[in-house]
Amino acid sequence: MKERLEAIKKAALEKIEQADAMDSLNDIRVSVLGKKGELTQVLKGMKDVAKEERPIVGQMVNDTRAVIEEALEKEMTLLKKKVREEKMKREVIDVTLPGKTHEKGHRHPNQIALEDLERVFIGMGYEVVEGPEVEYDKYNFEMLNIPANHPAKDEQDTFYINKDIVLRTQTSPVQARIMETGQMPIRMIAPGRVFRSDEVDATHSPSFHQVEGLVVDKGITFADLKGTLEQFAKEFFGPDTKVKFRPHHFPFTEPSAEVDVTCFKCGGKGCRMCKGSGWIEILGCGMVHPHVLEMCGIDPEVYSGFAFGIGLERVALLKYEIDDMRLLYENDKRFLSQF
Ligand SMILES: [Zn+2]
Repeated sequence: MKERLEAIKKAALEKIEQADAMDSLNDIRVSVLGKKGELTQVLKGMKDVAKEERPIVGQMVNDTRAVIEEALEKEMTLLKKKVREEKMKREVIDVTLPGKTHEKGHRHPNQIALEDLERVFIGMGYEVVEGPEVEYDKYNFEMLNIPANHPAKDEQDTFYINKDIVLRTQTSPVQARIMETGQMPIRMIAPGRVFRSDEVDATHSPSFHQVEGLVVDKGITFADLKGTLEQFAKEFFGPDTKVKFRPHHFPFTEPSAEVDVTCFKCGGKGCRMCKGSGWIEILGCGMVHPHVLEMCGIDPEVYSGFAFGIGLERVALLKYEIDDMRLLYENDKRFLSQF
């Protein structure tokens, strides 16, 4: 009995010494001291021991148990310390190393201008509507009063996918799609990317953005158009801004006008930005052509409306005094980070 206990103790102490993880120490505890452990088995064998020897054997088992428990405890404390020290070593911070920089993105000047513009029109009760960039010729031209042989089709230098499908040259097709649904009244702006096969220069790009507006209801007049655009100009460019309407021609509106605003740089006195005139052209507009209403299934005897189109880049360039449109597309961070 005594030898057996000695053997158990020796084996257990050796294993404890070799253990290099908390898990293995726990395993040893279970295999020696646990319910089915070696030492417990010895206690179960006590019934075979002579009655007078039982206290002695019991004492020996208890001593063995105490020695093993103590060794386990000691080893655990040591291991815990070791683990903590290693963790400290791993997590040491070298404050002299350069930090990791997380670069923060921000909105593109085009996007800032768009959100400003949307805010003004949403404030006036407009809905923001988007449509496809690849569009049927029918919506891009025909329904906007630009039939197959119309010269405007040449002027707009269209990219054709095939003879019926184009990359939209304007966001007006979104208006045609909305009018076609026949849900009145309409009060919407359609922002988005448009495409024309232009050469790239300081004021042209084959891909740019437009924001077109449309209002259709009973009793809409040119006075509503003027009032709306004047309000827009004041909110967008400043409260002292004045607007000027010059007669113009567009196929989808009649009458049509181009709108100038007083130069927000010089207030109308004349400067480099307005080329000395005191005025800056910002958009085209007009009363929706009765024929366009008809083609979209709206009775022009009952309803009337106005439409306008703003070049987003043009407005962004003016607002931030950028003199070259190409800067907006080059993604040069030195330029973009200024906004
Ligand atoms: Zn000026």
